[in-house]
Amino acid sequence: MFKRIDYYAGDPILGLMDKFFADPNPNKVNLGIGIYYDEVGEMPVLDCVKVAEQRIADPIAPRPYLPMAGLPGHRKACQDLLFGKEAQALQENCIATIATIGGSGALKVGAEFIHEWFPQSKCYVSDPTWSNHIAIFAGCDIEVGSYPYYDNATSSLKFDEMIDFFEKLNKYDVVLLHPCCHNPTGMDLTQAQWDTVLDVIKQRELIPFMDIAYQGFGQDMDSDAYAIRKAVDMNLPLFVSNSFSKNLSLYGERVGGLSVVCPSADEAERVFGQLNFTVRRIYTSPPSHGGHVVDIVMNDELLNQQWVSEVYGMRDRIKTMRLTLKSVLETKLPKLNFDYITRQNGMFSFTGLTPQQVEQLQSEFGVYMVSNSRMCVAGLNDSNVDYVANAMAEVLK
Ligand code: PMP
Repeated sequence: MFKRIDYYAGDPILGLMDKFFADPNPNKVNLGIGIYYDEVGEMPVLDCVKVAEQRIADPIAPRPYLPMAGLPGHRKACQDLLFGKEAQALQENCIATIATIGGSGALKVGAEFIHEWFPQSKCYVSDPTWSNHIAIFAGCDIEVGSYPYYDNATSSLKFDEMIDFFEKLNKYDVVLLHPCCHNPTGMDLTQAQWDTVLDVIKQRELIPFMDIAYQGFGQDMDSDAYAIRKAVDMNLPLFVSNSFSKNLSLYGERVGGLSVVCPSADEAERVFGQLNFTVRRIYTSPPSHGGHVVDIVMNDELLNQQWVSEVYGMRDRIKTMRLTLKSVLETKLPKLNFDYITRQNGMFSFTGLTPQQVEQLQSEFGVYMVSNSRMCVAGLNDSNVDYVANAMAEVLK
């Protein structure tokens, strides 16, 4: 009876990890998956998280089910970080926020909600985007299209084409946007460009869905949320999915949030109820451990300050690696332009290598990046950056 079931080819990025681990090359470097590794190539446990873990462990408490929407302190943490503590929309109870199973869970619950309450809406994602965006929305029976975003040939944004595209969309079509640290290109809009995008969204009555998985890795916590806060100031309806996987280095705990900004408190209450019902139908309630870590770190003033500086430490180390990579490549290949490496933000650099060059990097040098040429810069460190730059220079010759 199961013979008709298709084989699953596996996820290209997760599959790359398996290939990396199986590679016997002693010099191999993993620049595939979007994970931050520290200067010795290890995934950090943040000091603020260690304190939270100690508090959770002493005394060891019972584990009741959480509410469908997760811990109130987790929800508040999402709201304060995304919208700013003083946001008027928060004070007026116009934002419905639930804690979710990572950023992926937020996207899933948001997409289910859109499918149910805005069944005519199509969803448009940037070309290129994180491939799971397409899978998650299409998996909720939403038609997914893409809008022009990035020009590989010039390593720059297709901004005018993007605006022209948005101007042709229909009322309530969803546009999925990355407020900072675009995945996979690392190329973000300027604040002036965001203003233009949001004006078009307002005129055309589109629904912005902002997915923020790298807050703090771009400029700073507030600037990275510029697009979100500007949309709220403009009274736009807005969906925001956020992830704490990277900025709390809590990947496996699966912590994130979904917020829907509504025009009134009454509408926010209705939306909040339906988000709860959506969660109930899928998984009832989120897991508690990561939620407690988020609650403790983010709502304790001192731990929160410590957290911000730890995130900025990760951000700055990535920026240093960009500079080193660029300078070695420029020395090796003076005729080529590598400015894009430092123009891009966050964990990723879109290198523009061809699939053949990416393959050659893998087979000859054990340097792993995604076949679309996305490199996770957070996998570079002082011990491997020269090796990677030399390998890249070899395949680019
Ligand atoms: N959105 C983007 C743009 C991402 O890069 C990621 C993680 N790779 C997610 C959402 C999902 O985050 P999480 O791992 O918390 O599910």
